[in-house]
Amino acid sequence: MGRIAPGGRTSPRIDADGYSFDIGAQFLRATSPAMRRWAREWVQAGVLAEWRPVLGLYDTTSGTLRRREQLSQQELDTAAGSFFGVLSSSPDEPLFVGLPSMAALPAHLLRPQQPLQPLQGQEPGPVSALGAGEPAAAAVAAAAWPQVQSARLAEGRWWLTGPPPQQQADGMAAGGGASSGAGGGGWLGVFDALVLADSQMARPGAPGHISFQGAEAGSPQPCASLSMLLGRLGSSRPAPLLSLALSWDGTAHGPLLPGGAQAALLAGGGGAFQWLAEDSSKPGRSSSGLSRWVAITTTEFAAELLREAAAGGSGGGAVAGAAGAPGKGTGGLPPQDATYRVNLAERLWAALRTELSAGGRRELPTPVRLSAQRWGSALPSAPLGQLAVCDEAARWAACGDFCAGGGLQGAAESGAAAAEAVMAMLGLGLEGER
Ligand SMILES: Cc1cc2nc3c(=O)[nH]c(=O)nc-3n(C[C@H](O)[C@H](O)[C@H](O)COP(=O)(O)OP(=O)(O)OC[C@H]3O[C@@H](n4cnc5c(N)ncnc54)[C@H](O)[C@@H]3O)c2cc1C
Repeated sequence: MGRIAPGGRTSPRIDADGYSFDIGAQFLRATSPAMRRWAREWVQAGVLAEWRPVLGLYDTTSGTLRRREQLSQQELDTAAGSFFGVLSSSPDEPLFVGLPSMAALPAHLLRPQQPLQPLQGQEPGPVSALGAGEPAAAAVAAAAWPQVQSARLAEGRWWLTGPPPQQQADGMAAGGGASSGAGGGGWLGVFDALVLADSQMARPGAPGHISFQGAEAGSPQPCASLSMLLGRLGSSRPAPLLSLALSWDGTAHGPLLPGGAQAALLAGGGGAFQWLAEDSSKPGRSSSGLSRWVAITTTEFAAELLREAAAGGSGGGAVAGAAGAPGKGTGGLPPQDATYRVNLAERLWAALRTELSAGGRRELPTPVRLSAQRWGSALPSAPLGQLAVCDEAARWAACGDFCAGGGLQGAAESGAAAAEAVMAMLGLGLEGER
């Protein structure tokens, strides 16, 4: 997770020259009716655009690329489950990307909304924490993005605290040391419902871990439903991924992939990387003469490097960087500082170059700039198989890709289900929906 900020895994990397790279989510697929409807709305709002890259399957053993339309049905079926099903999309189905980066989507969703109204025949819930008389969604959007470290359910409401104010202002993940009450950390307020949007809240030591308490002094859990969810999430460990952002002087060197391809699944030999795409081929990205690319490892290769780093072995030395000290709340891994990222980027580039050069068959130019990102909790390894999990009586809802999987589409549908549940809990609805 890294920084606690809206955007999560859609957050881009802005390099020293101010160019943005999608180092997390690469694209959005809209295959369900709901997602297609939202995609249309977001395209109209100017925060989403179609991206139709020249797409194919790159064989790292032979160094050849075949475009999607040249693949047999059997090859397409084999690749169907790989990288968010990108090759199983029909050639007519566009991929979508946020404008100017993937993080435009959560930013758009957080904009001030139409005021929520009490539903007819229902008493409005007390919206004290959002500010009496204010539109609920607007108050949420306007608030600084706080990290929640401790949540107590008392008198039917949620009492939340976060890190001390200076750490909140820095927007940094403070690690696993949750404060136990208003006195220990930054007081966030009393809320009428709690939405749990990240499975890290269930894992002690994770950057987003939340310490839950019941109303009675010393009671460890607020309610049985939440204890059950924490138990299920706490026992599964999400899979990691590593991303590499690379820039070339586009005029001096040829493309990274053969055949003019702008995006490809990688298959064959080494198994270190699964996805490579020309970020600068996406619509709405600033053109600079630089050819900018993003590569994403397999979960297996990421896990191998992270194991080495945690053990301080040979891979650990390269990836740990000079800082070396294990990071708080990062599972014994070093913090992601500048040195760490440089070392990790060099290690990843060496592996990518090996895969792309296909045993020396292809010459590859040296990038002018490299940067890396570690996603320690990139993908849920065992989604719950439910769209969202809610408890109306205890006024909480949990949503995100850890509920039903499915990448961005699954997370959006899960969030919508949780939003509906919370509105019902609070007796709220949109004007005109009575
Ligand atoms: C490298 C990479 C590439 C990917 N590519 C694709 C792709 O091409 N297509 C696709 O569909 N999916 C892709 N995904 C998956 C996709 O990014 C996720 O499925 C999706 O972003 C999940 O959204 P979410 O809202 O569930 O979680 P997140 O995006 O992780 O959001 C959770 C939010 O909760 C916040 N948070 C956590 N703990 C706390 C706390 N205690 N207090 C306050 N806030 C907290 C976090 O800061 C974060 O903003 C990719 C993921 C990675 C890592």
